[in-house]
Amino acid sequence: MGRRFFVGGNWKLNGSRASIQELLEAWGKADLDKSVEVVISPPAVYADFLRANMPAEFGLALQNVYKEGSGAFTGENSADMALDVGADWVILGHSERRSIFGESNELIGEKTAYCLGKGIKVIACVGEQLEEREAGNTQAVVETQLKAIAAKVSDWSKVVIAYEPVWAIGTGKTASPEQAQEVHASIRAWLSKEVSATVAAETRIIYGGSVKPSNCAELGKQEDIDGFLVGGASLKPDFTTIINAQK
Ligand code: PEP
Repeated sequence: MGRRFFVGGNWKLNGSRASIQELLEAWGKADLDKSVEVVISPPAVYADFLRANMPAEFGLALQNVYKEGSGAFTGENSADMALDVGADWVILGHSERRSIFGESNELIGEKTAYCLGKGIKVIACVGEQLEEREAGNTQAVVETQLKAIAAKVSDWSKVVIAYEPVWAIGTGKTASPEQAQEVHASIRAWLSKEVSATVAAETRIIYGGSVKPSNCAELGKQEDIDGFLVGGASLKPDFTTIINAQK
């Protein structure tokens, strides 16, 4: 089975009804590559509005959910609620959740288990900090993060791994295609060794970190890069160029 190219747009804490309207117009006008799986991840308050107004073939993701379905967890959203508003994906383990909100590998594993148990698919993020790369620890850090997630995955067809070097997120400093490919290949090798050759061959590993219209084509040509998770550039009308990176 080939790996379908996947492009996710992570809006983070950005957007308004007016800006969403502009994006809807841009997407509507563009000649989009239909072979690409597009998944948009707005702030949760806009999820319902986006589901009702965006192209039916686009997927919808929440940027985070808690590890429970409901209860006394003020400020949180759940996988159950995501499904209720038509989301089919959630992003888990984003570096901003890890560093700003203190999410541990253990919590991310628990959230992964809960989401997959509910039937919502997971974009699982991993990636090293600059100091970790400079100390030669990229692979060890990524593997530790992967291990916590993989321990909770029963069906890998419901998981996309996003490799997002933290030093490249929102900084304008993209990993070179070679740097990204090297880590993607090591993640695939890890999956082959720790899970199975089939899972390694079939799981999509997408790259995130300052992807933009000017660098997406080169990144997308790499053998083990199966798409992108795009932050800042997904808020602009020319996000469509990134969707069409392989066209
Ligand atoms: C992200 O938020 O996942 C991301 C990769 O952000 P940016 O594209 O802005 O670096």
